[in-house]
Amino acid sequence: MKIQAAAIVSAATTTDMEVMKMAYKITEACVKCGTCADTCPLGIITEGEETYVIDAEQCVECGSCAAACPCEAIEQE
Ligand code: SF4
Ligand code: SF4
Repeated sequence: MKIQAAAIVSAATTTDMEVMKMAYKITEACVKCGTCADTCPLGIITEGEETYVIDAEQCVECGSCAAACPCEAIEQE
């Protein structure tokens, strides 16, 4: 029973952290210039079909990409 209780507490903590996270997202205003990909310190922005795309799972929300985008195409959700 003790192990089950610990697992439940652990799951609740992870969920709370995900709710608090304000992920950055690239909108359709993106013109695929690549500046954000060059700017991201983690290298987690890649070229997608219509826009560049942020790997939200790895993003640490530093904001460098949003500050560098000339089109204001990167928003925080
Ligand atoms: S810097 Fe802005 S316009 Fe350029 S690829 Fe990134 S999101 Fe798109
Ligand atoms: S907020 Fe920072 S870590 Fe996240 S995608 Fe933009 S530059 Fe990379």
